[in-house]
Amino acid sequence: MKNGRVIVLLGPPGAGKGTAAARVAGRLGYEHVSSGDMLRSAARAGTGAGLRARRLMNRGRLVPDELVGAIIREYLEKFPGDGVVLDGFPRTEAQAEMLDRMRGAGIASLAGVFLLKVPEEVLVERLSGRRVCKQCGAVFHVCALPPREPGKCDACGGDLIRRADDEPATVRERLEVYRRQTAPLIDGYRTSGRLWEVKADDPPERVVERITNRLGRAGNRE
Ligand code: ADP
Ligand code: AMP
Repeated sequence: MKNGRVIVLLGPPGAGKGTAAARVAGRLGYEHVSSGDMLRSAARAGTGAGLRARRLMNRGRLVPDELVGAIIREYLEKFPGDGVVLDGFPRTEAQAEMLDRMRGAGIASLAGVFLLKVPEEVLVERLSGRRVCKQCGAVFHVCALPPREPGKCDACGGDLIRRADDEPATVRERLEVYRRQTAPLIDGYRTSGRLWEVKADDPPERVVERITNRLGRAGNRE
């Protein structure tokens, strides 16, 4: 990608980043790029790095910056399209600096950073009811966004499973890791004038509309 537009979705686990990212990307003709999905597929491929990543993910910890940063950079460098919606990256100050360097190197331009805001009790409820397709990764919720046929993916018919890291003790750890390592990014993006806060405890269509309306008004900022 040469100076392609990057839209970053920021927010705690369960805020709806993946759900909104897929829809925003679909609307704009961009690609939904999820660092979590990329790491899960590396883990399934059984590479050394993938298996090390899986151990950390299952404990609710972050995977090392260098590993995630290299995966994202390589992907964006090769990506042929106009823009991406980044879901789950950056997650630390070091990763935000890596993204800055990708901007400096002419790989990406930052169209905006959207912070999805959801009360903590809703996060916990969302993660406990989350189900994902084993085959294509599509995301559902047993109550709020149920599949047409229980346990089966609407998109590909694959089996829906619960993520290993959505178990309550791991969710608590992930929320704590978010507070400690990711929330500090908010101030930096706010100060640079690139951050927009989005109320995200509403149906996905509303959340997506808030993001795309804001992008439409802002135009291309870089
Ligand atoms: P994140 O990527 O931020 O961890 P997900 O997009 O995977 O979050 O969403 C977490 C859970 O909440 C999923 O079960 C998803 O179906 C559900 N969900 C996401 N967005 C909404 C929404 N706007 N309203 C209701 N449920 C939602
Ligand atoms: P997610 O699918 O975004 O909920 O991410 C699931 C898990 O993957 C996280 O809890 C981390 O262990 C790991 N992960 C995803 N993105 C990153 C990242 N940018 N940096 C470090 N670890 C990540």
